[in-house]
Amino acid sequence: MADQRSAKKTPLRSCVGCGQAKDKKDLIRVIRTPEGNFEIDRTGRKNGRGAYICDDVECLKKAGKSKGLDRSFRMSVPKEVYEALEKEILIEQAK
Ligand SMILES: [Zn+2]
Repeated sequence: MADQRSAKKTPLRSCVGCGQAKDKKDLIRVIRTPEGNFEIDRTGRKNGRGAYICDDVECLKKAGKSKGLDRSFRMSVPKEVYEALEKEILIEQAK
């Protein structure tokens, strides 16, 4: 919080579920790799086109209903990606 190094602006990304812009580190990044695979990227460093979602099951549900991820990637996102995200979120919340 009082870390001087964080004085520079952190990029904001909007959640594909609720649409709120948040600090990247508060969101889960989903990427589509150049090979066409979807991955959940906790480090935010992997290459690929990315979309972001809050660490919140409600946002995941919203994204599922509104096809937020699909729109973000401009293609149909497999159900497995949503399931993997749900697991990821639930694991985080269980800590
Ligand atoms: Zn959200």
